This record gives sequence, C-alpha cells and structure tokens, in this order.
Amino acid sequence: MKVHNFSAGPSILPEEVMQQAAKAVLNLNETGLSILEISHRSPEFLAILAEAKSLVLELLDLPQNEYKVLFLQGGASMEFLRIPMNLMQKGGKAAYLNTGTWADNAVKEAKAFGEVIEVASSKDMHYSYIPKAYTIPDDADYFHCTSNNTIYGTQMRSFPETAIPFVCDMSSDIFSRKLDFSQFDLIYAGAQKNIGPAGTTLIVIRERILGNPKNGLPNIMNYQMHIERESMYNTPAVFAIYTSMLTLRWIKKAGGIAAMEARNNKKAALLYEEIDHNPLFEGTAAKEDRSLMNVTFRLKDANHTEAFDTLCKTYHISGLKGHRTVGGYRASLYNALPVESVQMLIEVMQQFQRSHS
Ligand code: PMP
Repeated sequence: MKVHNFSAGPSILPEEVMQQAAKAVLNLNETGLSILEISHRSPEFLAILAEAKSLVLELLDLPQNEYKVLFLQGGASMEFLRIPMNLMQKGGKAAYLNTGTWADNAVKEAKAFGEVIEVASSKDMHYSYIPKAYTIPDDADYFHCTSNNTIYGTQMRSFPETAIPFVCDMSSDIFSRKLDFSQFDLIYAGAQKNIGPAGTTLIVIRERILGNPKNGLPNIMNYQMHIERESMYNTPAVFAIYTSMLTLRWIKKAGGIAAMEARNNKKAALLYEEIDHNPLFEGTAAKEDRSLMNVTFRLKDANHTEAFDTLCKTYHISGLKGHRTVGGYRASLYNALPVESVQMLIEVMQQFQRSHS
C-alpha cells in the first residue's frame, strides 16, 4: 500500500535511503555488524562521518577551510541555547527576527544570556507573513532568523544584509533551494525533515566567528569543544548520522540542491494553484511569503472537516493535520516527497469539491 506522507517532521525520507538504512541495521557494508552496534570510533563510522561532513559543504557550496560541520544532539531547540552561549558577549545583545513559534522559542532562550532585540515580529498577525522593513543594529553580537516557518507555512525569500554574524535556523528548508549559503555564519537544522531521522542536528559554522576560546562554558554547550573533538566530544547519534549521510548522497546523485529546488517549486506551484482555485479551501499564509516546504491551508467551512479527513484516509494521505496550535491543514513537501503524492492530494481535493459544492 502506497501511503502519501505529508508529515511535517519526522517526515518522509527517500525510499532508496530507507532501504539502505534498513540493510545497514542488519549488516553494514558486509562487515557482519549492524550500524546500531559499531563503535563511533570505528573506521567504518569515522568514514561515514567524514563523508557526511564533506557532502554538507559540497552541497551548500561552502569552502571546506572556512566552515566546520557538526552533528550534535538536543535538536534544533538545543541550538537556541548554544547560540547565545557561544556568540553573545558578556553583557552583550543579539538581534532576532520573530517569524513563528520556533523563532519565538529561540528569542525566549536567548533572553537568559543577555539582551535580545526583536528587530520585527509578525506575531500580531498569527505569523502569517514575513516582516520586511526592519533594521539590524550593527552593535549586536549576531542576528538570528528562521528561513522557513514550519508551523505557519511562511518562508523568507530574501535575506537582509548585515555586517554582524548571521545565524539562521534552516530546520525545515535546508537543502531545498539554492541560496548563497556563504552569507550565513552559522546555519543549523534538526535532521528530521530534509536530512534524516530525528536524533541529530546539523550545524555549519564559519569558524572565525567563534573568536577566542570561551572559558566557563559547559563543554557540551561549547562549539569550540565540539569542533576540536570533531563531533565526538560525547557519543554521536551514529544511526541518525549514517542515515543523514545516505540522504546527502541521494541529494547529490539526484543533481544537488538545484534539482531539489526544481522539483519543490513544481510541487508547491501545483498545490497552491489548487488551493487558490478550489472554492472549498483557502491558504493561510500571505501569498508573497508562502513556503515551498510547508503548505498551510484550511476548509472555508469547518463543518466539512470530518468528510474531508475521511476522504484523505481512503486515499492513504497521511500527516496532513495542521500543527496542534493552529489547526487546519499542512502539507509538508520536503525533498523526498514525490510529485505523485501532491497530484494525489490535488485529485482528492477536486473530488471533494465535486461532491460538496
Ligand atoms: N526550528 C524549526 C524551524 C522547526 O521546524 C523545529 C521543529 N519542527 C525546531 C526548530 C525545533 O526542532 P527540535 O524539535 O529538533 O528541537
């Protein structure tokens, strides 16, 4: 049975990656050992980690000598803390753009370490748009934004220019579209959307922004410690990193980020077209800020909910429910989601329209 998986995360992974990961659970590269039972210091895992790091920089088109790649644990939420702990000076301040629940959580965590300047916020409009006109103070220690707002279905199309270190949470759109990634000094993303299974977070840092070694930070929170120990300060999430490496190989083989972007553009255009033309549905994000990854919409008449949900179930459409805090629907169109799944959802929406109008 083919299930169309629109889950926002953990989410769909390429079929080929799942086959390879499943095989490695039983026997990794004919070693007679499972990926689940090898040492993180074994030559097999060291090679996996090295390949994963190198693929990250290759796909993002970042120079290997300037950026360091880490795979850590604690989710993107842990980075909400590590970032101010590592980048805020004593008595310092940081600038944040507040575009959604995750950005808001990042703001809240940073406040424990210094002053936070919210340069703009779309909270007043239920985070349905991306603020455009704002000024980033150039005496702040860094600027933080969220490239894609997973819950509200908005995405930053352009990024501000800033002279201070630029930090971006790309949890829900990394590797999905071409950007000049060198405009960022620190990029981070929980793996469980476009990279791999839950359990590891990818962090890419331009090393020089870390400055002199920070004294007094707990080791586990210290990026310099993790760089020095090459993501091995403590036991890394071996399986999650292995599966992430397989996904990175899959992206490269498919033609890199440009190929992902072309397919993602097509999927999103098809679905938004249906949302805009089907009289029973409406989109919830400002049109110019609509996300290519998380498409948020709702039924104009909430009384239709049960019937639409039942029809979705009949056609094996899964994971369409909006985030529990906002309701409605959210179709997540991550890299691994095939165009056919979007076409199926559209067919279901059209069938629903024929029977309900
Ligand atoms: N940032 C964004 C943009 C997210 O979508 C999420 C989770 N969906 C997070 C941060 C938090 O990630 P985690 O659950 O891995 O801590």
